[in-house]
Amino acid sequence: MPYFIDVILPIPLQRLFTYSITEAESQFLQQGMRVAVPFGKSKVYTALVYKIHQTAPEVYEAKEIQQILDEQPIITPQQLQHWEWIASYYMASLGEVFRSAVPSAFLLESETIITKKDKTEVDESLLKDDEFLIFEALQHQSLLKIQEISSILGKKNVLPVLKRLIDKEVIQVYEEIYEQYKPKLVRYVKLHEKYATEENLQKLLETLNRAKKQREVILTLFSLSATAKKPITVKELTKQSNASSAVIKALIDKEILEEYYIQRDRVSYNGDETEDSKQLNQYQQEAYETIQTAFQTQDVCLLYGITSSGKTEVYVKLIEEIIETGKQVLYLLPEIALTTQLITRLQQYFGEKVAIYHSKYSVHERVEVWNNVLHGKQKAQIVLGARSSLFLPFSNLGLIIADEEHETSYKQFDPAPRYHARDAAIVLAKMHQGKIVLGSATPSIESYYNTKINKYALATITRRYGDVLLPDMELVDIKEKHRKKRMKGHFSDRLLEEIEETIENGEQVILFQNRRGYAPIIECKTCGHSPQCPNCDVSLTFHQYKNQLRCHYCSHHIAMQQQCLACGSHELDTKGFGTQQIEQELTELMPNVKVGRMDLDTTRGKYGYQKIISAFEQQEIQILVGTQMLTKGLDFRNVNLVGIMNADSMLNFPDFRAHERSFQLIQQVAGRAGRTKKRGKVIVQTYNPYHQILQQVSVGDYENMFKDQLNDRRQFHYPPYYRLIKITLKHKEYNRVNESAAWFAKSLRNSFGDNVLGPEFPPIARIRNLYLKNILLKIPKQQSLGKTKEVISRIKNSFLSISEYRSVRVIIDVDTV
Ligand code: ADP
Ligand code: ZN
Ligand code: ZN
Repeated sequence: MPYFIDVILPIPLQRLFTYSITEAESQFLQQGMRVAVPFGKSKVYTALVYKIHQTAPEVYEAKEIQQILDEQPIITPQQLQHWEWIASYYMASLGEVFRSAVPSAFLLESETIITKKDKTEVDESLLKDDEFLIFEALQHQSLLKIQEISSILGKKNVLPVLKRLIDKEVIQVYEEIYEQYKPKLVRYVKLHEKYATEENLQKLLETLNRAKKQREVILTLFSLSATAKKPITVKELTKQSNASSAVIKALIDKEILEEYYIQRDRVSYNGDETEDSKQLNQYQQEAYETIQTAFQTQDVCLLYGITSSGKTEVYVKLIEEIIETGKQVLYLLPEIALTTQLITRLQQYFGEKVAIYHSKYSVHERVEVWNNVLHGKQKAQIVLGARSSLFLPFSNLGLIIADEEHETSYKQFDPAPRYHARDAAIVLAKMHQGKIVLGSATPSIESYYNTKINKYALATITRRYGDVLLPDMELVDIKEKHRKKRMKGHFSDRLLEEIEETIENGEQVILFQNRRGYAPIIECKTCGHSPQCPNCDVSLTFHQYKNQLRCHYCSHHIAMQQQCLACGSHELDTKGFGTQQIEQELTELMPNVKVGRMDLDTTRGKYGYQKIISAFEQQEIQILVGTQMLTKGLDFRNVNLVGIMNADSMLNFPDFRAHERSFQLIQQVAGRAGRTKKRGKVIVQTYNPYHQILQQVSVGDYENMFKDQLNDRRQFHYPPYYRLIKITLKHKEYNRVNESAAWFAKSLRNSFGDNVLGPEFPPIARIRNLYLKNILLKIPKQQSLGKTKEVISRIKNSFLSISEYRSVRVIIDVDTV
């Protein structure tokens, strides 16, 4: 009897593929193990075993597998079940899910790049002949593709050799290399051990009777250590005791004080010892109990707690309870909100049980977390991660927390599967019979609506921790200010006054600008020309730092022009403004103030983001200028003023969610102000102070914003009343996109009539040399989603069988955001 396996290949084709195996292999193999298989003429893929059986395929002769790659399954049955849901719901292939679900190190394949492993000493005598050939080739060439290795060895099956070389630490599979982070060391002091006893201390103080300044320092150190049981930095001591650094140095030299250094991000995490979680206040406690009660009958609960209400501490209590039972916890965050601040906070409570899973971590680190989760290790009982952590091999997931649930960056856009991590998490929790908390200070319209119809439970916290009031928000009419000549650059007199006052008080400022770059667009004053990207339908934007014009879509760049490319005129104007320009205006207006900037350009690399955050925390920076990134759950103690440079660009964005998003964004940025004692202040500059959303956000009126938006959504047939599927067609020829999109839309209209919108060119109709055209399908609640998708798939198949259209790319985005 012959034996076969059906496998999942990491490619976009919908089906499984059958390969033949021996009887012995059939006994060894299990679902969830990887095998290397030949595919097409010369490719080798890593495939995942789905099913073992004895039915030969009907239309083709099954090839043999090349190699078994695992001793045990690396994918659990539950995981596969979840993958199948994602593939089917988001109209992707199981192979696409496989590809994005596992760390790339699990997918050795013909495109993989091999490099020499640095640093390790290789004992050549231990290498077999074929291993040595590759080793030698890598002495001459820094990287090799699998194809090349295949020709060096003169055989197709190279995976076993590679696997051996990886085990021997000779080579590594290509991974991105990030800039090195130098941990910041902070200088601390403490009293020398000699003076630990009361007696010696008394003597010391007596001897210092004549050295007034030194005595003052010691006494200050005492009072500081008494009030805060934490290490004292030299900086703080200098400040509090008004002593010069020379005085402190003298004390250190005399061995009265002892200095030591701690790495900044480790300060509060001392390895194995953990802290007790905080006692919840009345409002947190109520929310916590509401969630507990809700979980007796429901699986999903929305925690709607205003900024700085202490949602994290509520999560911590819920996590404590779950891990007691031995179950696993997944704490999901949008990529960008995953900060060291939160990591440190959770490690304080849970120590080593917290594992981080993040795309900026190396493949190696990710594989490690994967394996720890797979083996149910304590070390990864709590996983803190971005959306891809949904794909980890959990076996016993008791609780998921999806924090900042309103963030649209939870939706994966490219490549497929285009899943929404929050929604896929709800399904995942169900599969494990676990519970899920969605948390936000500004819930998405969809989730809040779901609480109204009792699909989700709701818990709320309406006060900030410590009863600090939400910041006072002032709308400043910059049209008026311009008219009255009260603007300096992009700053109104009101904003400048508030900045000055805040800085004088020794507090910090955050300025939010919804754009990066210096002055996005260069325009010729003579002929109006502005340099365009040759690949995309957008103007290039000016980046002062590199003195370049860059495309934000494809990274095309040219040097900044001195002359108009069209007419040669030297009079060029800069239009629009970005974070860089704000930063520069500020340094001119307030030369003595330290200004920092946080946007995509300044936060590249694994620790780029962290560096800026620590500098701000340490108060090395007084004013932080930034984009969206600033909104994400950061907890700074000393920020008292938030300025929003221009609220209009967000409000005018052509999208049905623009108003909801503007409300959320402004509310979230505002939430960074006044988090501790004093009420904070927010200044919103706008040309449109009477805009309803601004009026609502200025008084924090979420309820009315929700009602209005819901009315609009009902009237114009948008979520939560209708589901949306967006179909995008892409091709390098304009006409072909046009014609094929018209065909596709017409076919859809045959089935769905007026619920089909478009085809239409998006605002940027060409990206990376491909023209785009969108069709939007609105699906009423009573229409079956499954049947709708079947129709779309059928239309897509017919579409691809038309020879002129075959080369058009069709992208289907279910629940597009
Ligand atoms: P949110 O996530 O709701 O914006 P956080 O959880 O970041 O709020 O809490 C805001 C601040 O209040 C944090 O610095 C946190 O340490 C503090 N805090 C919250 N709850 C408590 C508590 N029960 N006891 C002590 N401090 C708390
Ligand atoms: Zn010109
Ligand atoms: Zn471009």
